[in-house]
Amino acid sequence: MAEERSAAEQLKDKLFYNKKNSSVRMDRTAQENAFAFCEGYKRFLDRSKTEREAVTTAVGMLEKEGFRPLEYGKKYRPGERVYYNNRGKSLVCATIGRRPLSEGLRIAAAHVDSPRLDLKPSPLYEDRELAFFKTQYYGGIKKYQWTTIALAAHGVIVKKDGTRVDIVIGEDPADPVFCVPDLLPHLAQEQMKRPLADGVAGEELNIILGSLRYGGEELDEAVKLNILNILFEKYGVTEEDFLSAELTFVPAEKARDVGLDRSIVGSYGHDDRVCAYTELMAALDAITPEYTAVTVFADREETGSDGNTGMQSAFFRSFVSALCEPYDIPLWVVLGSSKCFSADVNAAFDPTFADVSEFRNASRLGYGVVVTKYTGGAGKGGTSEASAEFMAFTRELLDKNGVVWQTGELGKVDVGGGGTVAKFLANLDIDVVDVGVPVLSMHAPLELVSKLDVYNTYLAFRHFYE
Ligand code: MN
Ligand code: MN
Repeated sequence: MAEERSAAEQLKDKLFYNKKNSSVRMDRTAQENAFAFCEGYKRFLDRSKTEREAVTTAVGMLEKEGFRPLEYGKKYRPGERVYYNNRGKSLVCATIGRRPLSEGLRIAAAHVDSPRLDLKPSPLYEDRELAFFKTQYYGGIKKYQWTTIALAAHGVIVKKDGTRVDIVIGEDPADPVFCVPDLLPHLAQEQMKRPLADGVAGEELNIILGSLRYGGEELDEAVKLNILNILFEKYGVTEEDFLSAELTFVPAEKARDVGLDRSIVGSYGHDDRVCAYTELMAALDAITPEYTAVTVFADREETGSDGNTGMQSAFFRSFVSALCEPYDIPLWVVLGSSKCFSADVNAAFDPTFADVSEFRNASRLGYGVVVTKYTGGAGKGGTSEASAEFMAFTRELLDKNGVVWQTGELGKVDVGGGGTVAKFLANLDIDVVDVGVPVLSMHAPLELVSKLDVYNTYLAFRHFYE
């Protein structure tokens, strides 16, 4: 028998904003769908550990679903699918909608770069008969987290004649892996007194490469020579070729389930490939959308979105121009009537470090896709902030379609903050709000997300494009 609710309880139901856990709000089938969806996501993660790999993987998936490279001057018709691969590192694709471009686009924009250890331009050295690579970290990391874990090498070396050598070492179980050694606790008394931020300094993130000498003679730098010889025999490269390389070191671990209930995916690079994958799957589903559905994989977000593959580059505007110019529709008309979900992760509330968050406004693991009205920090510096009107549009869209969602902010006021690509799209006169997945241990070698949140993020993008 249904329990009677008092008038006061009913009034509370009507007037209060109630957040509820996804596992209560989603039925069994929806939860199974979420778990199944994340099997594909894990495979995507393992194939996409750098922005270049994410773009290559995505282009393969787009081609299979009828997307074709952009042809300048072509008048694209409703239902036609097109993509632009920007230097192999960022990507924008579209399915043309039934409404004219002058009525605007529906854009979801994620980034596909993640924090990592890059090699310096001249990285290789030998010190007391051990060979190392010098690195420079990319993006915001807690440096101590990147020592004494297995790392894999990913990237490209481009020789002077233009030949490109693709490198992946450490992903196949038969491959060697790499590592940044750290000091043993027995001798770390001084190191342990350093503030945590300096526990391991940037110049101490040196990757060990080997210990064997080349030949037997008393030759200087024979260990370095041996490493170079291995690289030359396998890839035909010399030390000078590092000058034109993008080699990066990322955790060698594969994505896998975390926890006894398997509700969490642990992986390197959820930020922001979790939004890239969910928006991509939604883009593949958008067969003949009402509005033209545009999906962006941006690069360089973790370092400020600068550069010709970042969200501040003209490549995005150029792509939209290529769609609207054949119709003589000005770019500003298209952009000014467009709506955008800036697809990026937010910080999930961590009960162990509860005092950095204001619980009422923090996003929580397992509470669905998180909508963030503004990011930034302190006095709302560095954020575009979604308007009340666009928040209302977003609420209605998600509620109408039964998407489990919550709001979030990036920590307590004055504790810190962060940003996304949102403001760069808003600066183009587009309505933008941040929509994405809450993450625990963001920017760590092993980040955690809830499968139910991942699935609801996909649903949010899918209904946004519909
Ligand atoms: Mn991000
Ligand atoms: Mn990030």
